[in-house]
Amino acid sequence: MAVVTFDGATRQFSPDASPAVDHLDLEVADGEFMVLVGPSGCGKSTTLRMLAGLESVEAGSISIDGQDVIGLEPKSRDVAMVFQNYALYPNMTVAQNMGFALRNAGMSKNDTATRVSEVAAMLELEELLDRKPSKLSGGQRQRVAMGRAIVRRPKVFCMDEPLSNLDAKLRVSTRAQIAALQRELGTTTLYVTHDQVEAMTMGDRVAVLRKGVLQQVGSPREIYARPANTFVAGFMGSPQMCLIDVDIDAGRAHLGDAEIAVPRSAPQRLVVGLRAESWQVTGPGTLGSLTARIELVEELGSEQFVYCSADVAVRDGRIVVRADHRHEFKVGESLGLIPDAGELHWFEGDSGIRL
Ligand code: ATP
Repeated sequence: MAVVTFDGATRQFSPDASPAVDHLDLEVADGEFMVLVGPSGCGKSTTLRMLAGLESVEAGSISIDGQDVIGLEPKSRDVAMVFQNYALYPNMTVAQNMGFALRNAGMSKNDTATRVSEVAAMLELEELLDRKPSKLSGGQRQRVAMGRAIVRRPKVFCMDEPLSNLDAKLRVSTRAQIAALQRELGTTTLYVTHDQVEAMTMGDRVAVLRKGVLQQVGSPREIYARPANTFVAGFMGSPQMCLIDVDIDAGRAHLGDAEIAVPRSAPQRLVVGLRAESWQVTGPGTLGSLTARIELVEELGSEQFVYCSADVAVRDGRIVVRADHRHEFKVGESLGLIPDAGELHWFEGDSGIRL
């Protein structure tokens, strides 16, 4: 059993800088796969390092199964880290790398060898046990780094961007393997990534961070369906949600000629969010549509994304529309867009908080 609890946990590198992690409250359930996601510098790695004991904590507490771990040495916390660069010992074989922590903790040679070969079988590393890291592919090194964490049978895994050195194809297959392995082992896991697709596909729950502040925690589905604010709305989902500033006139807002009903008791300044699948495409000038000009077409085979400009206040650029592969779109042409009234996300204009 390992429940991980951050309670107001704060890391401040210097008194005049804003905290790298700011009063973090987060509970990770026993056996849960929790993904920490956010842009570069938002405090993901620092959060993991605080849990593992590699960073100090200026305020708040961190506990594992109710035991405060802040005073404990890293090696006494029973947390195994998998780093982005794998941090393998170059002069040791795969077997020695995997068994190192066990031998260090006083385990016999025989027991260590048994444990290592069990985990090597799980990760299909049996043939490679006598090789040095320099003779391994990137994907194999990544599996050795995982194996080294797994042999320890820790209470908690902390993984810091473990897939970022793999090529795109290997990353996709490895992320499915890691998620399946974690479920099989049932070990509580905190996994850091800046890649929102990785976060959505791997996590039981996802915690979104921005500038050291937790923005939202929820299942991938909850975060996609009900982003808590404009930051989460824009960050999670690919292509990103289109956010448009609108003014209200007698309880209605206008996107070109498209009129949309505004939630009751809404403030004067509002942002409406639409995902790429929430537009209906019609001919230009269709009654009740927003006229848009095609700027770029991204063909994905089964579907296409059409990037358009329009005379509305879109934050971060262009409107993106998902369309069927049968439609033909040409850059420079116009089309009519009708927003799907059932799929609108509303946010308060100034704070960005979901209504
Ligand atoms: P990335 O995805 O780029 O790895 P991250 O979300 O993991 O980013 P952190 O590495 O946790 O972010 O960094 C959070 C903030 O703390 C950043 O502003 C960073 O510059 C700062 N920071 C990290 N380590 C130190 C340090 N040793 N000294 C001073 N500031 C630091």
